[in-house]
Amino acid sequence: MPEKILIIEDEEKIARFIELELTHEGYEIEKSYNGREGLEMAEKGHFDLLLLDIMLPELNGLEVLRRIRKTSEIPIIMLTARDAVTDKVSGLDMGADDYITKPFAIEELLARIRVALKRKKNMTKESATLDAGKLVLDKNAHSVTFDGNPIELTNREFLLLEILLENKSIVLSRDTLLEKVWGYDYMGETNVVDVYIYYLRNKLDAVSPEKIIETVRGVGYIIK
Ligand code: CA
Repeated sequence: MPEKILIIEDEEKIARFIELELTHEGYEIEKSYNGREGLEMAEKGHFDLLLLDIMLPELNGLEVLRRIRKTSEIPIIMLTARDAVTDKVSGLDMGADDYITKPFAIEELLARIRVALKRKKNMTKESATLDAGKLVLDKNAHSVTFDGNPIELTNREFLLLEILLENKSIVLSRDTLLEKVWGYDYMGETNVVDVYIYYLRNKLDAVSPEKIIETVRGVGYIIK
């Protein structure tokens, strides 16, 4: 699927030039000539990256940036006028990923776009996987592997392992695990945690030569 880029730039010539070049590179482009409309499009549009001019009618680029950053981590490259140093600094302070000064060579813009998109990909990758040694849990794929070999887990076992891995090197009590995996209002047996740890261990011990989940006597469980 082509990556989608939104251009918010009121100088129509520049916007059209960028659109042409980026389309040629295989990106899917939408554009807006004013800040308010651009902000609405950005909020609705599932874009992969935003090119955002600063001097814009209706809502300036810094304000658009500020509002988008309240809810979204989408990569944003600011388009700034030559010598507008304060704008660049404010833009970066407010969470822009990068800026480029107009007029720019299209190759430079393309390079910056590639960097910003790659950084975003790496970020999503990192936050979606948890690991302990050769054990890897992928939240997006909902999969667990040990040394590359898949381990089949039920939803509850998966969630239990996810909580333990998120708190790696921290002992989690039965109460904490009960609350995080089964919820506050769970009314069943409290030994359900031990039962599920037992299931989970059996599956992990079948593939791992070392013990992955350790018991801390009288306290709870830990993955180191
Ligand atoms: Ca402008």
